[in-house]
Order: sequence, then structure tokens, then C-alpha cells
Amino acid sequence: MQGLAMKAILVTKHGGPEVLSYTDVPTPQPGPTEALVKIDATGVNFIDIYFRTGLYKADPPFILGQEGAGVVEEVGSEVTSVKPGDRVAYTGIRGTYAEHHAVAADKLVKIPDGVDTKLAAALMLQGMTVHYLTHSTYALKSGDTCLIHAAAGGVGLLAVQIAKMRGATVIGTCSTEEKAANVRAAGADHVILYTKEDFVARVEEITGGKGIDVAYDGVGQTTWEGSLNCLKPRGMLVCFGNASGPVPPIDPLRLAAGGSLFLTRPTLNHYVATREELEWRATDLLNWVRDGKLDVRIGEEYPLAEAGQAQIDLASRKTSGKLVLIP
Ligand code: NDP
Repeated sequence: MQGLAMKAILVTKHGGPEVLSYTDVPTPQPGPTEALVKIDATGVNFIDIYFRTGLYKADPPFILGQEGAGVVEEVGSEVTSVKPGDRVAYTGIRGTYAEHHAVAADKLVKIPDGVDTKLAAALMLQGMTVHYLTHSTYALKSGDTCLIHAAAGGVGLLAVQIAKMRGATVIGTCSTEEKAANVRAAGADHVILYTKEDFVARVEEITGGKGIDVAYDGVGQTTWEGSLNCLKPRGMLVCFGNASGPVPPIDPLRLAAGGSLFLTRPTLNHYVATREELEWRATDLLNWVRDGKLDVRIGEEYPLAEAGQAQIDLASRKTSGKLVLIP
């Protein structure tokens, strides 16, 4: 493959979607511990926008994208865990907005028969995020009540379903009636249109004044304060994203005044730090999809060349479910 060109989306400088360049770059060659994956589907995620704008640090030029699935075409001399022809999915290595990617073989997870490659791509970043949020950061249990913001989003629709599997009462927020229908279909017990209603007052009403055990907040700037105000004493705010902008610094005394609250700002890498943890989360998710227990809603598919449009749609709150790019 070396020497041949492939198509990829390059970030040549930080900025708006216009800085994305669909261009020819050399097809990578796998190193001794890597596999060359022909990518069939790559997930679009908010983190791609953060890297494009420079909110998260990476020096241009670089190929965007953190989540992919496809077929192994070639393996390095030391790789025994996968072989050419295997269908695989992965996350955590930038460069998936491309036709091929040389990936550390120990990051790859084999896709079981009966699971579509596109769905597997969708599960690796958003699905594993929901897995660690609901199983590890705050391990939900029967009797808990959780708040999930942007519940109609890629992370959100998975979070609602998985929180229900854990036995929790789920309150989801979203911006429109159309999205609310998707959140209800995913199994949420209550849906709040936070663009029209005061979500703190509604949570108080729903919980009879008790408050919630945990708020999963990927919206950030516009919701974090309300999320804190929804918690019961010793509840936890899991601030895991910045879809509306970053959260400002928080005074620890604010946590004391709110009822000895917990605040955490987790990120996926630290929750798939070992191969064992990666396999636990990925296997659960892939098996749930294969067995019909988890529905992955693909909101929209775009050709790779239209990555900019996909990011515009994601950032403009138009979308529900997962967006994928097809190289
Ligand atoms: P979504 O599909 O959820 O899209 C973001 C949603 O956020 C929008 O659809 C919108 O839903 C809501 N939103 C509210 N205010 C705004 C705003 N001002 N601008 C844009 N969107 C807004 O995206 P993802 O599923 O990809 O990601 C959700 C969040 O999870 C992101 O913040 C992301 O960074 C975070 N994340 C964090 C990870 C981690 O490990 N820490 C890993 C993966 C994702 P509505 O219209 O209903 O308000």
C-alpha cells in the first residue's frame, strides 16, 4: 500500500468547518505492532470539533477523527491478535477521517457476526463513554435517579437505554418535541424540553423535592449550574463535555453549600486504560447490539468528503443519534 495515495480529511489550521480539506495523502504502512485498517465507517464526534477549533490541543496538519470500523488489510510482523480479513472497530487513535489507518493492534476489537460495521463504529467512542459513565464513574443501580442532558444525541440515546438497563429512573433533556419522541422511545421515564422549561424546577417536581443521585452533563456551559442544583445531598455531577461551551472554574465551597456534592470531569482514555477494561466495555456493547438489547440510531450518513457538513449539523443541534462518515 505504501506510496499509494488515499483520501483523508486534513486539518491544516484551526478554525471553522472550512479549514477541513478533503485531500490525497500517502496511505500509511503498518509498523511491527500495528494493523492497517480499511475504514468502512468513521464516527463523527464533538471531540472532532474541539480538535478542529483548537479547544483540544493538536498541531496541524493532522487527520481528524477518533472512531472507526472496517477490515484489517495488512498486519505488522509482531501482530497475532488480528489477521487480514477481520472486521474490527476502535477508538482513541486520531486519524479515522480517512480511507485507511495504521492502528496499534492492541486497540482493535473484533466485531462479532451479526453486528453491522457502521453500528460498531458508532459504539466505540460514544458507547464506551456511556458504559464507563454508568458502570464506573457513577455506577448506577436500581432505585437511583439520573439526569441525562442532550438525551437525544449520540451519547444521549445510548445513555438513556443503558441507564434503564441498570435499573435507574431516567430524566432526559433535549431541545425539541421531535427529539423528545426519540428520547421517550429510548426508554426515558421523563423528558424535559430544557429550551422551554426550567429543568431544575421540573426535576424538583419529578423527584418530589428529593433531587437526583447523578447528573450526566455533556452540554457544559449552559447546564452545569442547573445540574448542580438538581442533585440530592452527596449527589454527583459528571461533567463530561462542552457541547455548549466549556464550564468555568468552580469554587469547591459551592459543592459544600450544595450538600457535600461530588464533581468529576472524566474522559474515555482513562476508563479504557487497560486491555481488560477495553474488552469489558466493548464486548458488553457489541453483544447488547447483537442480541437486540441496545438500539444504535444512525441519525445521518455522509460521504467522507462532506465531513464539514456533518460537523456543522452536529454543532447546530439539528441531529439526533449517531452521525457516520463513509469513506
Ligand atoms: P450530541 O449528538 O449529543 O450533540 C450535542 C447535543 O448537545 C446537541 O444535539 C444538543 O442537543 C446539545 N446542545 C445543547 N446546547 C448546545 C449548543 N449550544 N451547541 C451544540 N449542541 C448543544 O453529541 P455527542 O453525542 O457526540 O457528544 C455529547 C457530549 O459528550 C459532547 O459534549 C462530547 O464532548 C461529550 N463526550 C465526552 C466524552 C468523554 O469521555 N468525556 C466522550 C464522548 C463524548 P439538544 O438540541 O437536545 O439540546
